[in-house]
Order: sequence, then structure tokens, then C-alpha cells
Amino acid sequence: MSSLIGRTLGQYEITDILGKGGMSTVYTGYQPSIGRNVAIKVLPPHPGLDERFIERFELEAKTIGSLQNPHILPLYDYGKTEDGILYLVMAYVDSGTLAEEIERGPIPLKRIEHVVRQIAGALDYAHRRGIIHRDIKPSNILLDSDGNALLADFGIVKMLSNTATGITGTAVLGTPAYMSPEQAHGIEVDARSDIYALAVMVYEMLTGKQPFQADTPMQIILRHVNDPVPDLRLINSELPSEINTVIQRAMAKDPNERYSSVIDFAEALTNAIHQRDESRQVARESAPLQRRSIDNAPTEILSPATEIGGNVPTNPTPTGSTTQPQTVVIRESTNVFAILGGFGVIALAIVVVAVLLLNNMNNAAPPATQPATDVAVIPSEQPESTPEDVVTSNLPNLGRLRFGNASGLGDSLSLSVQNVSPATGGQTYGVWLLNTETDDILRIGELRTDASGFGVLAYTAEDGTMLPALYNALRITLEDDMEDMPQGEVMYSASAPIEVSHALQSIFVTDERGICDSDTECASLLDSALMEAAFAEQHSGLAAGSTTPGSMTPHAEHTINILSGTMQDHNGDGQAQNPGRGFGVYPALDLMEEAINNALDADAGNVDLQTNAESIRVCLLNVREWADEIVDIETGMLTVETDEDVQAVAGDAARAEQLAGHIITGFDANQNGRIEPFEGECGLDQISDYGVEFGNLSLREGNADAQ
Ligand code: AMP
Repeated sequence: MSSLIGRTLGQYEITDILGKGGMSTVYTGYQPSIGRNVAIKVLPPHPGLDERFIERFELEAKTIGSLQNPHILPLYDYGKTEDGILYLVMAYVDSGTLAEEIERGPIPLKRIEHVVRQIAGALDYAHRRGIIHRDIKPSNILLDSDGNALLADFGIVKMLSNTATGITGTAVLGTPAYMSPEQAHGIEVDARSDIYALAVMVYEMLTGKQPFQADTPMQIILRHVNDPVPDLRLINSELPSEINTVIQRAMAKDPNERYSSVIDFAEALTNAIHQRDESRQVARESAPLQRRSIDNAPTEILSPATEIGGNVPTNPTPTGSTTQPQTVVIRESTNVFAILGGFGVIALAIVVVAVLLLNNMNNAAPPATQPATDVAVIPSEQPESTPEDVVTSNLPNLGRLRFGNASGLGDSLSLSVQNVSPATGGQTYGVWLLNTETDDILRIGELRTDASGFGVLAYTAEDGTMLPALYNALRITLEDDMEDMPQGEVMYSASAPIEVSHALQSIFVTDERGICDSDTECASLLDSALMEAAFAEQHSGLAAGSTTPGSMTPHAEHTINILSGTMQDHNGDGQAQNPGRGFGVYPALDLMEEAINNALDADAGNVDLQTNAESIRVCLLNVREWADEIVDIETGMLTVETDEDVQAVAGDAARAEQLAGHIITGFDANQNGRIEPFEGECGLDQISDYGVEFGNLSLREGNADAQ
């Protein structure tokens, strides 16, 4: 494509070129309506630009555009010109990328922790919405002027694969240096693939080197599939073994052996780093430092002494770590040359790699050590024969139902399917929600899939009802005509135990054991907890503002009684008072935990369910711990006898009031601007954010309940 500088795409004036990736070009642009600079990513031309492809591009762009997180590069807009140019308009960030920071030299552990926490938070946010990045690497982490990390290129790989394969190809892509074994195998990836790539990136931040280097991209891919991850301490003996253990687990060949979430990985890494923090150790301190020479000659490794003394470098050895990895999408098919033009040679090589992968999956390839270029593998539409052991178990591959919030909590859903058999012969797929206890059925609509079995369907309940609280199963039936009720055979389904719906109903909608204003109007357990927590905050505040024992001890008593739902005379003044609703925060927590445990017990061993429940459980635990600390503090305040005693506990009293606030709003413990589902961070408010996830379901073939 000739340069677009000087042209206008939509309302955006192209002013300069920022860089060229594997299959796309990034320009700086100017948006006159707002008077700001933007970055514009132009996708490669797509032959034909058929409607289906554009639909997918738009769907993907909308999905990325819906991601709102302080550490995800915002997508402002997207568009298509009359001559078929597809472009994405993003925030312009001008402080370089993490790849450049790695090139500059050793990165302190504290900085690594900072970046990983930010990126892990962003990824977790996306993963919880079912969006996988698929191309995590340092050059996709942009940095703002304060050094904050912004994850870029969400969904781009998917778009590029569509570009390369048209609408029918399945795509597995990424950048070989960061590619998980399952991605290399060409099977559907999930969040654990992003965890692998993030761990590769951390490895590189810690050592300055990528873990697997080789002469060719194919060899790198094979090494990811076959070779053990080299111990970090071989490159930097100063690094603690705990960090190596964390990286080894995050880069396990089997996704099941990795951390179950990116947050778990970030937490484990943080803990491992802190074993070491006191000594303010700098990563790669004792490792060879590397520097790119000014004339762009191959990267050189310098010993620390050479670096400091500024002497002529010794031991010139290419490392591969300073090349800018580009995502290139290549499809294993007979027409790769037509599709990829100039990439044909690499594509041919990739066909060989794919064959090697399929045939020699279990035969370790001898390692090589040369720099890598970056390509990705896309399997053919119909792989000839995939060995059984290539398919890793437990990877969701038919699709997922996710609940979300439109105007009410859990009142919308999105169903995405892949690899389903397209409905033929004039029949269509009907999608229904079902309550397996009452047999209530809700008609969601007709699901259309493309030739590769990919399809999405969204639905929002008009009355704002919480769908997963009413329905615990999904059915996809094959219908001649879409009627009000399903008539045809169940082809795909998903279900959770009915106790999940019961738990969601109690926690978020209503529970007669909660705070009731009448027989029929009872608040949910969460709302009941929030009401009581507001009283606790108010009264712990009154206790903290007290200057005499006579006013402090009654308020301390009130706070304890409100939290416990009791009416006891704690300060011994002959009056037992509870100015709250008498329900208590603890009893609400007990009932919420019980509801969740009932659901988990009903389908013990369902890992999906356990994972979905995890965030709520963490928040409930945080609230309980904060409440315990408040009760301890307020109990201590009951013993004050003089004004001096009151002054002496003033600091504790203020802390208790602060903790009562945390119970409601959560607490940004790591000060990254967000409250996450971490220990010590999320509170009651966040339970609504994560609660709907409890109802999410993975799709399976046939009728789940009949199997
Ligand atoms: P990419 O094709 O995504 O690897 O980007 C090519 C070049 O454009 C890289 O050097 C990036 O640093 C730069 N770039 C990409 N996106 C942006 C952005 N939003 N703001 C500033 N620079 C960017």
C-alpha cells in the first residue's frame, strides 16, 4: 500500500508514519473535531472486502472499543474508506514501548512488578469479558509519560487473521518468541495462553533475553513446544529461585499446570519479588548488559565492566531480544503466496513447521541459538490429521455464554460460538435460556454462524431482570422455524446447577432472610450488607470523632452491634443499642458464602464454576477481614476511661472508620487507580461487578442434562 501521508481517512488527517508492523502500518493522525493527535492503524488490503469480513471487522472493533480500562490503549474509532481501507483510530501515546525500555538496559524489580501488575489488571479485565489478547509482547506495551503501561493491539491478531484467511479459515497466531505451545499447535487458545506470553515477557524483562532463541521462527516455535524453559538464574544468578519457580509455572507446556488467572500469576510474581525487595536488587544486575550500537549493527553483549568503562565491546553475539517482533499471519494452505505476497518464503517454511509440529510433537528438537524473526502459524481449514495428543483437554472450544449489565445487573448476555456445525437445509439454530427446576424457557433468538462455525448472539432483557438468577441453562436447538418454544433437537447446551441461580437471586435480587420492609419487599443479601455497612461507617465515624469516653464507648458499641447484627450492652452502661437495621454485616456475609458454597457443592469438581466464584469469594473474605479488624479496634475503644485514653486511641478509631469505608467501596491497596478482585482490594461494591460472572457457562455438544 502506498503511503497515506497527506490523505484523510474519515475525519482523520494522516500526518506521519509511526511504524510498520508485520501486516499493518501505524500513522499519526489529527482529529480536527476534537483537536487532538491520534494513532491510526491501517490494516492490509483485504481481497474483495466482502460483507461478512467487514461485519467481523466491525464486531471485533466494537468489542475492543468496549474495553475500558486505564491500562488498555483506548480505541476511539474505526472505519472503512470507499477504496477499501480498513483503519482503527487509537489514543496516541508518545513515550515509546516496553521493548525499547528493555533494550535500554536492566530494569529494576520494582519497575517490573509495577508494569506486570498494570498489564495483569488490564488482561484480567479483558479475560473476564471473554477477550483474549493473543499477542502479548513488549512492543505491544506502550508507555505514557509517567511510565504507565498501556496494552495495545487487542483483537488485532484476530482481524489480521481474518484478513489473511478470509472468512472461512481458522487462525492461530501470535509472535513465535512469545507463542504458547497450544497456540503453536493451532488449537483454540484461552486466557492461559496470554499468561504464558506474559511470562515470556517477564522473563525478558528480568534477563534481557527471550527464553527461546533459534535460527528460524520454526525452531523457536518448536522450542516452545518441546524444550524446558531455561532457568532464569543461568542468565542472572542474582535472581531468587522463587521468581524462577513462578516463571516456570506460568510457562508450563500444559495450560492446566499454569496459574488459573493472570492475577494469580501477578500476585505470585509480586510475592516472589518481595522475598527480595529489601535488598533493592536490580534485575539483570550481574547479567551481561546489552546495548544496540548506533549504526544498527547486530546487538552486542557487553560485560558490566565493559559497559561502565565504555570500552570496545567484546563477544559480539546476536541475542534476538532486541529485534522488534512483528505479528505476521500466515496460513498453511496452497495459496499462501497469493495471500501473503512478500511473505511467501516464510510461509512456505511455516508449512514445513506445521508438518513438523504435527508429526514430531513429542520429539524434542535440538535447541539452536540465533535471533528470531516473527511469524505465526495458521492451520489449514481442514487439517489433514491432527494427532489426538495435540488437543489439550479442558480448553473451551465450542463457545461461551456470558452475562453482562446493560441497564440492570445481569440483564444482558452474549453468546459466542465457534467450531459448531453450520445449520443447513433451511434450518436455523434457536437459542433458549432454561430454568431446569421450573422448566421456564426464555426465547433468546436465532443464532447465525458463518461457514467456519463462528457466530455471536447478544440479548438484553427489556425489563432489566437478572437473567442468570432466573435461568441456569442454555439450549441451542435445530429448528425448521423459530417458534416461541423450542421444537427441534438440542444440538448444543450448557448448564450450571440450579443452586447458581438461587445464589444469584439471593445475593443480588431479593432474599426473604435479608432486610425486609414488608413481607414482599425484601432486599438482596448484598443490599442488606451494604445498608448495614453504611450504618457501621457512620457510627465508627461518630466513635472516631468522640472526645470523651461518654460519647466514644456507646458509638463503639453501636458499631460492633451493627456489624454483628446483635443487641448487646458492650460498654456496660445498662443500655444495649443497635442503631442499624439489626441484620448485621456478618450474617449477610455468612448467607452469601453459604449460597455460593451450596452452588459449588452441587457440582463439585466443576472448575469453571470454582473460577467464576473466585472473585466474589475474595471480596467476601476481604469484607470479613476488615469487619474483624473494626470489631477488634472498637472493642479496645470500649475500655477508655479518661479523655487522655480517648486521645490515645484516636488513631485506631480513625483506622476503624476508614476500614468501614473499605467494606463498602473496596480499597486500592496497590494504588494503581483501580480496585481489583485481589486480597485486600475489593469490597461489597465490587461484588456486583463480578457476581454476574458466576452464571457464565461453557458450551458443549448435545444436551448437557441428558449426558
Ligand atoms: P505496531 O504495528 O503495532 O507494532 O506499531 C508500529 C509502531 O507504531 C511501533 O513502533 C509503536 O511504537 C508505534 N505505535 C503503535 N501504536 C501507537 C500509538 N497508539 N501511539 C504511539 N505509537 C504507536
